Amino acid sequence: MKSPISFDVDGILADFNRAFAKVLNSIEPGCCVPDNPQPTTWFWTDLLPDEKARKKLFNEAWRKIDAQPYFWYNQLNPLPDAEVLSDWLGDGGARGRIVYFVTNRQDTCGDVPAAIQTKMWLRRFGMWSDHCTVLAVKDKLNKKVLYKALGIKYSIDDRAETVEDCVKEVCLAGPQFDHKPFLYDQPWNRDAKVLDHVRLDNLTEYINIIETGERE
Ligand SMILES: [Mg+2]
Repeated sequence: MKSPISFDVDGILADFNRAFAKVLNSIEPGCCVPDNPQPTTWFWTDLLPDEKARKKLFNEAWRKIDAQPYFWYNQLNPLPDAEVLSDWLGDGGARGRIVYFVTNRQDTCGDVPAAIQTKMWLRRFGMWSDHCTVLAVKDKLNKKVLYKALGIKYSIDDRAETVEDCVKEVCLAGPQFDHKPFLYDQPWNRDAKVLDHVRLDNLTEYINIIETGERE
């Protein structure tokens, strides 16, 4: 059996920023962010520099998201690398292993939890096989706990803080935690120079590393 692996969803497979911008721009009195925003910081401080106003807008945006029972299913476009994953799964890439999608999404109103909406979304865009499972974590810093508990050997995430947390945990735990975390390069994580040694430009590189590692 091959080692389990994981993928973060938003910022790698799903275009959360565009969906979030749409929600922000629908708020009255609204803000005006680009339809396809490319923030250079995680909290969009470059696009919305007024901290107090930004926090208020974000809170309102999350209220609007919570009120949409299928937000995670029907409001997100796939990002270009979704096709890489779809092709890999379609070619039987997951054979012999479990593929986890570990996401920090919160439940919305309605009867369909975020994890199930995510599964439906992945299936809709061809990123699913019998070997796949979705896990929704309440706290982003709990991802490393899951990786450890489930024996997940490789992970990729676009949030620098999450990856840094894993890198530190791997150093602390030594052989007890056989895990390789990677940072998916995005404009909002480029200030994390300390993670450049685990930064990957795309999912093709990630999959190549996994498959090469398995053959060693
Ligand atoms: Mg993400």
